[in-house]
Amino acid sequence: MLLKLDLFIKEVLIFYVCTHVASQCCMENQVLHTLLQALKKQKYHLVGRHSAVKRCKWLYEAIVHDRACYKQKFYGIKSHQCIQMTPSLFYCTQQCLFCWRAQSGDLKIRWNELRLPHWDSPEEIVEGSLRAQAKILSGYKGNPNTNWKKLTEALVPRHVAISLTGEPTLYEPLSELLRAFHNKRFTTFLVSNGTLPEKLEALSEEPTQLYISVCAPTEQVFKQVCRPHSTEAWTKLNETLNLLPSFRCPTVIRMTLVKGLNMTAVEEYAQLIKKADPTYVEAKAYMHVGFSNLRLSYSNMPAHKDIHTFGELLAEKTGYKIIDESAESRVVLLSKLEKPIRFVFS
Ligand code: SF4
Ligand code: SF4
Repeated sequence: MLLKLDLFIKEVLIFYVCTHVASQCCMENQVLHTLLQALKKQKYHLVGRHSAVKRCKWLYEAIVHDRACYKQKFYGIKSHQCIQMTPSLFYCTQQCLFCWRAQSGDLKIRWNELRLPHWDSPEEIVEGSLRAQAKILSGYKGNPNTNWKKLTEALVPRHVAISLTGEPTLYEPLSELLRAFHNKRFTTFLVSNGTLPEKLEALSEEPTQLYISVCAPTEQVFKQVCRPHSTEAWTKLNETLNLLPSFRCPTVIRMTLVKGLNMTAVEEYAQLIKKADPTYVEAKAYMHVGFSNLRLSYSNMPAHKDIHTFGELLAEKTGYKIIDESAESRVVLLSKLEKPIRFVFS
């Protein structure tokens, strides 16, 4: 793994050297070192050349305090059996202000975020993710507060949240990756920003549940908050929203709401939701964590009551109802269903 990580470092370095004067070399090494140290500090476990697993705080909460994340509450997936991962750690078509990932330009280094230079195979990513999760879990054996029943179950993960950071549709063999997880009896929740509709349309294997992020009501706010690399991104996102009804799996419009930035124009949001006709809308507060600390402030985090009020306005305009919520995660769930579909594990 270290060898592959070195390859990534070399690639960033080459890109950097090609775009900067050679005299800055020492500084580059220093900055790359800083980036990797920052990722390690944030507990990223790098898998191969472009993937990563990170312990979700709810894995800890489930094993140590017997508490579950809101997705367990809503959909029945088990927090302690969930792997939070990404196949595109450093790569995305957007640079959202609220994103917790390290973006090109943060920490003063730049790389091409739109191109995964190599593709590790789906099998390598699945096996590497399982190894990384096992390593994370090994730390709980020495914790006197560990719930051993939960830990024993956690050692057999059953769910993968392909949502950690980055845009997963940039990883070309995404269908094969989903299939590889499904073949191991995992459920998969896939989160995409929807700017590559052709990739989503071409999926030969659907995830168990598909999330599309809609974090702006208009193109103007989209450009300001989501900062897409392409001028066509808003059109592409709208193509994806038109495509959403064609999926067989449950679909979710995921909104990350940032106080003072994108909690406006409910009517416009409602039009986007009506177009996509998703199974659910999850409206969730921005959390002031990770590298987003470099771009936004603590005061940009909405309180749960702000999210609930926003959810009520959305419900009024869309005909969806608030069917569940989690105050501690600052999220409301809207749907036309009476209650969410729960995934049953055999
Ligand atoms: S579903 Fe999401 S919030 Fe829940 S444990 Fe997995 S990564 Fe964490
Ligand atoms: S689309 Fe997701 S991964 Fe990409 S910048 Fe936005 S929040 Fe981050």
